[in-house]
Amino acid sequence: MDFNDTPEEAALRAEVRAWLAEHAPAYDVRGAGEMPLAEGLARGRRWQALKAGRGYAKITWPREFCGLGGTPMQQVIYQQEEAKYRLPIDYFKVSLGIPIPIMRRFATPEQQARYLTPALRGEEIWCQLFSEPAAGSDLAGIRLRAVRDGDHWVLNGQKIWTSWAQVSDFGVVITRSNPDVPKHKGLTYLFVDMRTPGIEVRPIKQLSGGQEFSEVFFTDVRVPDSQRLGEIDGGWKVALATLMEERFSVVDVTGGGPGLDALIELACEVALEHGPAIEDSDVRQRIAEWYVAEQGLRTNYYRMLTALSKGELPGPEGSINKIAIPSKLQQQSRFAMDLMGPAGVATAPGARRSTHPFVGWLEAPGYRIAGGTDEILRNIIAEQVLKLPGDVRTDKDVPFNKL
Ligand SMILES: Cc1cc2nc3c(=O)[nH]c(=O)nc-3n(C[C@H](O)[C@H](O)[C@H](O)COP(=O)(O)OP(=O)(O)OC[C@H]3O[C@@H](n4cnc5c(N)ncnc54)[C@H](O)[C@@H]3O)c2cc1C
Repeated sequence: MDFNDTPEEAALRAEVRAWLAEHAPAYDVRGAGEMPLAEGLARGRRWQALKAGRGYAKITWPREFCGLGGTPMQQVIYQQEEAKYRLPIDYFKVSLGIPIPIMRRFATPEQQARYLTPALRGEEIWCQLFSEPAAGSDLAGIRLRAVRDGDHWVLNGQKIWTSWAQVSDFGVVITRSNPDVPKHKGLTYLFVDMRTPGIEVRPIKQLSGGQEFSEVFFTDVRVPDSQRLGEIDGGWKVALATLMEERFSVVDVTGGGPGLDALIELACEVALEHGPAIEDSDVRQRIAEWYVAEQGLRTNYYRMLTALSKGELPGPEGSINKIAIPSKLQQQSRFAMDLMGPAGVATAPGARRSTHPFVGWLEAPGYRIAGGTDEILRNIIAEQVLKLPGDVRTDKDVPFNKL
């Protein structure tokens, strides 16, 4: 494992740091208080446009698509430095993390010329319409029906948990085009304009007060076949490519929460029966355990970075961090709330996970589900890392309409 930047990586890091120091503070949302969605999004779009103009929106992409033609490692360096600020980039994470890289791989050159740059500049947002009420972990079990009609597809059905659908202009959608064959073989992948007649987006109000995802209903939605990505009934291949795109994200071992320093500070301030909480052996023990866990998570992360730095693909061991970090956020938030007493559940409107444990505690369960539940990730580790026997899959060869 190599923890150090190469001279070229160090030079890019210095350049990125200087650029961020000059521009990022004006967009930082720390301490900005409650911000209506429209205002946060407008600030986010301005930041995204600035970043794209400098080539930092997708460093690995060519200059014609707002990139620098750099390496995945350089992309990670930028993300590491950007993560030191709290910038309004959440609105674009799905858009630029999954649908847009898929458009670059599977769309025609004309479609790429039309759609990529506006998305990288934050002018247009894309969502990922995969999950349905009866299909999430088992993605190949989706039912949203696509029936061919001339040079169009007609879509009927429902998606759910679609992040940022309510502000999205376009979306990538997996459909069931052939129910007569086994489930993985009858899927077709399309992209849709979210303003097409027949698409209805209903935002879901979350426990934490936010509204970051929606239900999306499709009623006789007509989509041109020219908006198909991949082969007819070959959508599973595109879907797998989509899921692989999630691998190169930067790991924040705090899970976006206030972090251990803030917890130690809190433990110093809070008085228990026999003195400051930090002097209590149970409190010290818990903090020490989380400190050790963070070192392990960082080391695992450096293992992935080393692979990237050598031009290799990180393996499925990234699933370990995905399991451990949201659970740690949940436990740490709960612990901080206990220390704070009644104040632990009193949040100001618009409080963020980065500053208030109550918000972290409410949001952590969602992070244990999004992008693969704990159980699914354990299956991945068991099968792909530990090489244990595979999960039982009895429906693999049965036609979908016979399941
Ligand atoms: C914050 C957030 C954002 C999201 N954003 C999007 C988005 O933008 N687009 C999108 O399409 N979806 C999105 N999702 C949905 C997400 O992908 C699904 O919720 C997730 O895949 C789980 O699917 P499910 O909810 O149907 O649960 P299910 O798959 O029904 O799982 C229910 C329970 O059964 C367990 N389970 C299922 N299969 C197995 C198995 N084989 N072995 C052991 N246990 C199993 C699961 O771990 C879970 O505990 C989002 C979810 C969240 C929380």
